[in-house]
Amino acid sequence: MERWNPRGSASAARVPGRDVRVRVDGERCVGHGRCYEIAEEVFGEDDRGHCVVQLAEVPPELQAKARQGAANCPERAIEIDD
Ligand code: SF4
Repeated sequence: MERWNPRGSASAARVPGRDVRVRVDGERCVGHGRCYEIAEEVFGEDDRGHCVVQLAEVPPELQAKARQGAANCPERAIEIDD
């Protein structure tokens, strides 16, 4: 599967807008891994497979992926400020 690389794409020009803040509730996260499979630029994993935020301030060009990752968390552990 080809992964989207915002830095390697000709269409990766900065999108006007502001960064949004992402948080993960460590009490809710059980390590399904869906978030970092979808948005590896924003979410990573610790040694137990639980989510670790890699990019707390998400730029506009990655916000759709961050939101998709959050929407696919079965535990609703990811919060994104608007
Ligand atoms: S999808 Fe949700 S539960 Fe799974 S690792 Fe990500 S934040 Fe944790």
